[in-house]
Amino acid sequence: MRLQKYLAQCGVDSRRVCERYILNGDVSVNGIPIKELGYKIDPETDQVSYKGKVIKDSEQKVYYMLNKPKAIVTTSKDQFNRLSVLDIVNVKERIYPVGRLDYNTTGLLILTNDGELAQRLTHPRHDIEKVYRVLVQGNVDQEKLRLLRNGIMIDGKKTRNSKVTVIKYYPIKNRTLLEICIKEGRNRQVRKMCQAVGHHVVYLERIAIGSLKLGNLKVGEYRMLTLEEVLHLK
Ligand code: URA
Repeated sequence: MRLQKYLAQCGVDSRRVCERYILNGDVSVNGIPIKELGYKIDPETDQVSYKGKVIKDSEQKVYYMLNKPKAIVTTSKDQFNRLSVLDIVNVKERIYPVGRLDYNTTGLLILTNDGELAQRLTHPRHDIEKVYRVLVQGNVDQEKLRLLRNGIMIDGKKTRNSKVTVIKYYPIKNRTLLEICIKEGRNRQVRKMCQAVGHHVVYLERIAIGSLKLGNLKVGEYRMLTLEEVLHLK
């Protein structure tokens, strides 16, 4: 099995982050530091360590959803020492967030120690839909909606088609509430898409990932996923 896959499967972190650990020289196999991505190990006989700690695939897999509040990061290490989602989800297993939400975005975030599921949900190849509620400044006209739906250039690359629905226009504050459903997960994608058509994002919330819905979980609250929810995600 590839080294990064094994580390992710054991719940060290997502496969992509584990690749970084390997390149940093934090991972040893049988006492020898290995910096090669894709290095093959035998999980039965090889002893894998991360920062000197032996890693075993014995931990039970756990799955949580959090309604992420504003002003909190989804990374475990933050250069400004800001509060992280891992500071508010108190569980004994070593879990990590699946994908990212911006500092000021609220809503559905999955946390798990199941590296395989994390990989499946975040890899663009799997086409998992993420649904966002977006409050933007201004009245979004048909031409802007068409641009958002058909793909728009951000960071030099066109976005894929997305579903965009107008939920409500608020004339007093001149704001529009949209629902945007995307399959990609590019950096600050929804904010940049709206900005690209001239609409500043006032508020952004993720309400669904694939079949999983945020429902009525309050901001800052978290709960374990039901078995049925986990099975639907897999
Ligand atoms: N798109 C964004 O712009 N921000 C997020 O947090 C998620 C999607």
